[in-house]
Formats: sequence, C-alpha cells, structure tokens
Amino acid sequence: MYKLTQPAEIKRLMGKYGKTFKKALGQNFLTSEEVLDGIVDKSKITDKDCVLEIGPGIGVLTCKLGMTGANVVAVEIDTSLMPLLAETLEGYENIKVINEDFMKLDFEKLLNEEFRGKKIKVAANLPYYITTPILMRLLEYKSHILSITIMVQKEVAKRLVAKEGTSDFGAISLAVAYRAHAEITQIVTADNFMPPPKVDSAVVKLTILDKPPIKVKNEQQLFKIIRGGFALRRKTLVNSLQSIGIPKEKTISALETLGLSATVRGEALSLEQYGQLSDILFL
Ligand code: SAM
Repeated sequence: MYKLTQPAEIKRLMGKYGKTFKKALGQNFLTSEEVLDGIVDKSKITDKDCVLEIGPGIGVLTCKLGMTGANVVAVEIDTSLMPLLAETLEGYENIKVINEDFMKLDFEKLLNEEFRGKKIKVAANLPYYITTPILMRLLEYKSHILSITIMVQKEVAKRLVAKEGTSDFGAISLAVAYRAHAEITQIVTADNFMPPPKVDSAVVKLTILDKPPIKVKNEQQLFKIIRGGFALRRKTLVNSLQSIGIPKEKTISALETLGLSATVRGEALSLEQYGQLSDILFL
C-alpha cells in the first residue's frame, strides 16, 4: 500500500522514476486524505458506476476511486508518469490508464469502448491551465454524464456557481446553469497540494440535468446571445450585443418587451431572461 498523500512518499516515487513536477501541465498533487475522500463521497460512487478521471498524476485519487469497485478510466497526458502509475495502481483490475491528451482523444469512442455507452461520473483534480476547455468539452457530452465533481481554482468555482447580478456571473455560469445543478462542496487551501499552487481551490459538483431548466427555440442562438451579452464587460447589454452584429434598436425593443431597461448590463439577466431575449431577437 502506498501513502500517496505523504510528501515524502511523493518525493520518493518521483525520484525513483526520475520525474520532476511539470508546472506547464498543472501538476499539483493532492496531499489531503480528507479532500480526496470528500471528492469520492460527493461523487456518490458505487461499484456499479463508470468513472472517468482526467489527470491521475501519481494516482492518489485514482486509487480511492478504484477502491469503490467502480469501473475507472483515467486519462493522463504525461507519458513519463506511465511507469509510476503502473506501480501505484498495480493490482486494481478495475482501473485502466489511457496515456492521451483529454482534449484530443476521441471521447465518443472512449465512452463506447470503455463504458459501453453507460452514463458516467467524472471525478478529477483538474489541471488549472486548461480547466474551462475541459469542462466545456465534458458539457458537450452531457447526455453521457451523470455528474462532474472537480477540483478547480476557487475563483473559477465561484464563476461556475454564480447567480445573476453578482460580480462572478458570466457566460460560463450560464453555460453551466443550462446543463447542470452546480454547488461548491469544499474550499481547499493551497497547502493541500504538492507543490502548492499560487491560488486556493474548491471542489465543485455539477449534477447534470435531465433536461434544460428553460425551453428556447434555438439553443445555438441562445449561446450566441449569452456570449454576446458578456463580449464587452462593463458596457450595457445593448452595446455588447451590437459588437456581435445585433442592431441597437432591435435589442432596445426586445428589452422593452421584457420590461427591462435599455441600460441593463449583461450580468444582470438570468438564464430565463436570456432565453426570452434570444427567442425575441431571433423570431
Ligand atoms: N489527480 C492527481 C492528484 O489529484 O494529485 C493529479 C492532479 S494534477 C492537478 C493534474 C494532472 O492532469 C497532471 O497529472 C497532469 O499531467 C494532467 N494533465 C494535464 N493536462 C492534461 C490533459 N490535457 N489531458 C490529460 N491529463 C492532463
């Protein structure tokens, strides 16, 4: 049994395989049993589940996921970690490591081949340099996913769960709200990692919704309006949408129909109001 949360053990293993922490790959390994158990508990994983981990590192979370008896697939970009992972995950018949870049792999194929089309749970301590692209990729495949429990930077976590009218609210808050129920389950200070990152972190759980909370005529147009609504921060929604080619008069008239002021800003509108605005603008 390895003590993968202990700094001395991490150093020993890294030394044994001639490895150094790759900052560019966001290699900050978890050193807290409590935080790891929190991720696994909140994911509510059982031996019936299919679990995807992105970025196993030296396998500290992977082992915990494996202990549940679930079918675990861990995708790691760093080829130099493969021999180390082979050692730390030895004996876990239910864990498979795939040495690929999550952003480049054929996700559809992985879902079919490894999980036979069964809905999955995602659990990961994400590499921070690429959090948003990974999350957006996962959300694209939401119909294959039950939940996503991830460690991200605290500032990002706040944006993922933010409500309209707050300073953290943005296009990503709406992208998440359209597809999931989001909650911060744990705040994690930098001293729970090796090496410690410069920022504090938080665990966010996204429970994928069976269907979107609002009904719109055209989903793509909704997201065009949402992105447009935040294109020019600190400007009015009217000006911001003009920057993506929507005439001012059109937006002003739509806002009037919705009982909203012509000077309202993008961050003030709820998902429901964005839905109504999109439907009116694209009649
Ligand atoms: N799960 C481990 C833990 O909690 O200690 C490691 C987490 S560390 C924050 C992020 C991991 O993601 C690193 O092992 C890194 O090499 C890996 N990684 C970075 N970019 C990746 C990518 N595009 N695809 C897959 N893995 C990636």
